[in-house]
Amino acid sequence: MTFSSALDECFWLDAVDTGHLEPPVQGNEEAEVVLVGGGYTSLVAAYFLKRQCPEMDMAVLESDYLGFGSSGRNAGMVLHELHTDRLGRHGPRSVRFTYDQAVAAIDTIEEISRESGFDCELERTGYLKIAVHPAHLRKLAKIQASYGKLGVELPLLNGEEIQAAVRSRRFKGALRFPQAAMLHPGKYVAGLKQAIKKAGVRIYEQTRVTAIREGAELEVITSGGTLRSPNLVLGLNAYWADNRFGILRDRAVSLLSFIILTEPLPDDLWKELGWSGRQGYSDARRIHNYVRVTGKRILFGGRVAYHFGMEAPAGRERIYDRLYQEMLETFPCLEGVVSITHRWCGPVAITRRHTPLIGRTGKKDNIYYAMGYSGMGASLATLAGRVLADLVRGEDRRWQDLLYLRDRTLPLPPEPLRFLAFQGSYHGMRLLDGLDRWR
Ligand SMILES: Cc1cc2nc3c(=O)[nH]c(=O)nc-3n(C[C@H](O)[C@H](O)[C@H](O)COP(=O)(O)OP(=O)(O)OC[C@H]3O[C@@H](n4cnc5c(N)ncnc54)[C@H](O)[C@@H]3O)c2cc1C
Repeated sequence: MTFSSALDECFWLDAVDTGHLEPPVQGNEEAEVVLVGGGYTSLVAAYFLKRQCPEMDMAVLESDYLGFGSSGRNAGMVLHELHTDRLGRHGPRSVRFTYDQAVAAIDTIEEISRESGFDCELERTGYLKIAVHPAHLRKLAKIQASYGKLGVELPLLNGEEIQAAVRSRRFKGALRFPQAAMLHPGKYVAGLKQAIKKAGVRIYEQTRVTAIREGAELEVITSGGTLRSPNLVLGLNAYWADNRFGILRDRAVSLLSFIILTEPLPDDLWKELGWSGRQGYSDARRIHNYVRVTGKRILFGGRVAYHFGMEAPAGRERIYDRLYQEMLETFPCLEGVVSITHRWCGPVAITRRHTPLIGRTGKKDNIYYAMGYSGMGASLATLAGRVLADLVRGEDRRWQDLLYLRDRTLPLPPEPLRFLAFQGSYHGMRLLDGLDRWR
């Protein structure tokens, strides 16, 4: 059973017209640039390449349909959060530049949708990182100070202020990221598809890449034929684990994340929740929930499971039930009065430093990649797409300070050691989260 099964029905995918797919590759073809993966990374790269080089002949290949991957099934929180605790060894100039680019990516989404004439429901609500234990207040103050060192002022909300933003007895305070936004992931991906198609990019759906033969002229072997091209862009993010290309498979672990969505809430419940600014939030635990509002519904996400392949995990019923319980613990007023209409899951790629990797590789240095957004791909895959377009054109000077272009991390261990390392760190984080509760 794949992720597109009825049991795991993703709300956003209603906006993606899966009834009219682009035809698959058949036979042998050529393109100046081949982009693999039908998510934000490849589509934004194609968008900017086409804008900068209108004559360039490009082909996007997707094994299922555009938006099938995480780009069509995420929570739609467009964030500008840096993992500042993991960036200490980098100079403040590069860190600040990287932060500014994450913020600018939100403007990029607005710009693409305006220029292409689509509405992806981008709402500049801001985002809250919420303390659910007193120990988190110290953690948030530390994070605030680390941003302060970069010259970025983020407001800390006290108990009273967070209750005024959204009411839950679990919430003790919050750090606010004011420029963050919320969007409709399905409408973003569908809008990108229309924009690049109109600009003349060839799109092939239901076309799975099965092998890549390297060389100055690459051969991209697919389920329906072969494409020859001097440039290949790989936008596979968490799907590297499913592929046998042998390139960069040791850079990120792929974890499944889960979402439940309520029916539209009646007005009296909205009043009780007092969610006036509609900000999305995640709590400050290491294994956290991420939550937002869409229309009059609440989207509640979290939990993780190791992603072993394209099959949805057998134990997901239990995971959805646990998420539902967590939602009721957070908002007890929903108990017995609100039902869940949708629930789904999808893979997230987590790197060692929880920061993405962007670059070029291959025997002829003509394979371009971006991956490992660690749950922040709405903004960072948009940024990466823009960077990849410049890398392909050889115009990458302006990105020299971007940390994501400087991957010096060690590869992850091979399986089954990788799985065991994940288990160790997952249980370690849960233990630390438990300790925070009593501190
Ligand atoms: C449940 C969930 C919640 C999330 N919430 C957020 C959030 O709120 N904010 C945020 O910023 N990020 C979030 N993310 C992460 C975000 O969705 C991703 O980082 C982002 O979508 C990655 O985009 P991408 O284009 O790189 O990859 P994807 O969108 O995953 O696209 C990769 C595509 O490659 C295709 N593919 C795989 N193998 C092949 C092959 N061999 N040949 C051809 N095609 C292939 C797949 O079908 C897939 O469509 C979430 C992710 C999930 C799963």
